[in-house]
Amino acid sequence: GRGGVVLCNEDLRREMDEQADLSVAIRGAIDNDELVLHYQPIVEPATGGIHAFEALVRWERPGSEGLVPPAQFIDFAERSNLIIDIDRWVIANVAAQLDVWADDPDRCDVPVAINVSSRHLANDHFVQHVLQPLEYRGIDPSRVIVEVTETAVVDDLAGAALKLEQLRDAGIQIAIDDFGTGYTSLAYLRSLPIDILKIDRSFAAAAVVNSEEESIVQLIIDTGHLLGITITAEGIETPDEADKLTALGSDTLQGYYYAKPQLPEHLNPPEHLEQPAASGARPAGLAR
Ligand code: C2E
Ligand code: CA
Ligand code: CA
Repeated sequence: GRGGVVLCNEDLRREMDEQADLSVAIRGAIDNDELVLHYQPIVEPATGGIHAFEALVRWERPGSEGLVPPAQFIDFAERSNLIIDIDRWVIANVAAQLDVWADDPDRCDVPVAINVSSRHLANDHFVQHVLQPLEYRGIDPSRVIVEVTETAVVDDLAGAALKLEQLRDAGIQIAIDDFGTGYTSLAYLRSLPIDILKIDRSFAAAAVVNSEEESIVQLIIDTGHLLGITITAEGIETPDEADKLTALGSDTLQGYYYAKPQLPEHLNPPEHLEQPAASGARPAGLAR
């Protein structure tokens, strides 16, 4: 119609069929609890303790070998409201995990970060979707960190700020994820209720070898600190990266160098974490 031509060939038809199949399969994954959460520690080099855990979703898909990583279904799910249902599954399951950890002296003080998608943030029921499962389980909201990407907040800065403010009023901590990759200028930070800034993992390796990248990271960290924001450096894979980001002032670090994301029952104390010599008390969160 209107001079436009659309070709539907076998490839396109197959692609459409596959997408329809994937939608049905993800729906089933949510309804049948085929999703699993792995937890990755975010460490505090200054105290040798665990600052938080980040919950990261995987899919135990029947017929697939191994766990399906989020990259293979989150992007797809984000094209529809399926992502909202995944987020809600994650929140409900993190609430259940926090309930279990409430009785564990090593875990009860360690908050858990959840990732929420931009589509969910834009939804009218977003705040309720986060708070309700916590209330249902009697979880103190201060044990939860909500991570949003900077791209998710710039789409509707005023609307996002309002909702994040409501979560924060309830006690939840707000983190901006993947910072430095999107369009957020440092000036935006003032208008958002932010507790934590997570510097994207691409900067960790770059800051070690490139002095310009190092200067950018230094600027982000210093500006964040001026605004009272805690800085996390993501994607720390080597001791050089850990040393560099710590020297630049990052408060907390996350990456394979310390620990990979694991099932809650397989969480070990992070590697390569110095215990402060003089302090007698065991840092909060570290397993015996
Ligand atoms: P993200 O939120 O930036 O999560 C961090 C990702 O970096 C995780 O990948 C983690 O396993 C990986 N990572 C951690 N340390 C290192 C490191 O030292 N080196 C490298 N190369 N990677 C590291 P994962 O679990 O595959 O998750 C990928 C993305 O999928 C997440 O990025 C997030 O955007 C999304 N995602 C994961 N779980 C959820 C979820 O429950 N809900 C939503 N909406 N998105 C999720
Ligand atoms: Ca994240
Ligand atoms: Ca990230």
